[in-house]
Amino acid sequence: MAVLKVVQMGQPVLRERAAEVTEREIRSGAFRGFVDDMVETMRDYAGVGLAAPQVNVGKRVAVIEARPNTRYPDAPELPLQVLINPVLTPLTDELGFLWEGCLSIPGIRGLVNRPKRIRVQALDPDGNPVDFEAEGFHAIVIQHETDHLDGILFIDRMKDLRKLAFQKEYERFFAEPDEDEGDDAAPAERSPD
Ligand code: ZN
Repeated sequence: MAVLKVVQMGQPVLRERAAEVTEREIRSGAFRGFVDDMVETMRDYAGVGLAAPQVNVGKRVAVIEARPNTRYPDAPELPLQVLINPVLTPLTDELGFLWEGCLSIPGIRGLVNRPKRIRVQALDPDGNPVDFEAEGFHAIVIQHETDHLDGILFIDRMKDLRKLAFQKEYERFFAEPDEDEGDDAAPAERSPD
């Protein structure tokens, strides 16, 4: 396993639509090794999600995981999930708000709103279809990562660019740890990746 280099905003791969992963690729050892490397990279960077374009690979695969004692101590725990060729369907018009960050846009937070509940259809690492509902923080992380597969960054989703801040200023002026917004509350250290 290896820690891969995370590319930053400005790299063209982050603005391209990633290619579907084929069944043949899923069965290949190279792809399995790549997914393992993505997981190791996400953990090394202390992110809660990582999409393949962020490591300069234009394939529709993302990993998510939130563990305690990462740089997001307040985030709810999310078990490791590997999502291949994910397709999302919003299940509500109700929006959750979160100050998102991104390993490809380091040191920046921005307030983004996204549907609070979604249906997720994807393939698991064995190529089996998975179909589940996600809500709150889980739903937001999956939407953030799936956006990466379409060349979309969280700043594109912002309605008000005045709610864009450097991490320190965000913590100083915007973070409201006591705020109660349910699962997608945005305490200081919570962000998709
Ligand atoms: Zn990101």
